[in-house]
Amino acid sequence: MTGQIVILLGPPGAGKGTQARMLEERHGLVQLSTGDMLRGAVRAGTPAGLAAKAVMEAGGLVSDEIVLAILKERMTQPDVARGAILDGFPRTAGQAAALDRLLAGSGGQVSAAVSLDVDDEAMVDRVSGRYTCASCGEGWHDRFKQPTRAGTCDKCGGTEFTRRADDNETTVRDRLGAYHAQTAPLIAHYDALGLLARVDAMQEIDAVARDLERVVTETTARA
Ligand code: ADP
Ligand code: ADP
Ligand code: ZN
Repeated sequence: MTGQIVILLGPPGAGKGTQARMLEERHGLVQLSTGDMLRGAVRAGTPAGLAAKAVMEAGGLVSDEIVLAILKERMTQPDVARGAILDGFPRTAGQAAALDRLLAGSGGQVSAAVSLDVDDEAMVDRVSGRYTCASCGEGWHDRFKQPTRAGTCDKCGGTEFTRRADDNETTVRDRLGAYHAQTAPLIAHYDALGLLARVDAMQEIDAVARDLERVVTETTARA
């Protein structure tokens, strides 16, 4: 693990997944979304998935133990050596410490943590209008990111889309609560280490991407 490791911090709807996919395309960094991994485990019906399902549906955080087991396994795969963009991980102080240990084991370290700064109230609309292409995983939005042709994914031509069961107003409010209680303190943690950058993620998607691009390029120059 010698590549760049960039962490995206932000509440549900901040744009972590959207921006991670764009960075993956531009920089060859691999998107590691623990949310996607957990949803995969739920679909596959693994023991971890069975344990995580109810917690995810209720908008809480899955235990560090389960999340770390799933992430560690993914990080042993060779593509991750190119560097990774962590989308939705770490989410607790325990996960942040475990990440440092995991990276140190292969001589790596966190390159940067970016806080995607947003207003909570706007996140309810973002999350409620979110949907995803079932074929390629591209994220879309009912109002803020519509495909050029309604019902057809621009990326792959797919016509099947999915919506997450937890993307409803009640669960979003619980997830925002979990974010502020358990994840937001990581912003100060990475700031104290001199690794924090902030991006105004209330801007439109392309403007956020431009600001994020600057952060990642500066981090590459430093490395
Ligand atoms: P997260 O991974 O942080 O939960 P997503 O990247 O899935 O967030 O974005 C949530 C929803 O909001 C998606 O439907 C996405 O298309 C849309 N979205 C992402 N960034 C923006 C933005 N800057 N402005 C408006 N809508 C956005
Ligand atoms: P969002 O970016 O919209 O919050 P994610 O896909 O990142 O959604 O996460 C969906 C759910 O998966 C979370 O609400 C939580 O239950 C679980 N989850 C994902 N990542 C983690 C993590 N690192 N630690 C604990 N739970 C997680
Ligand atoms: Zn698609």
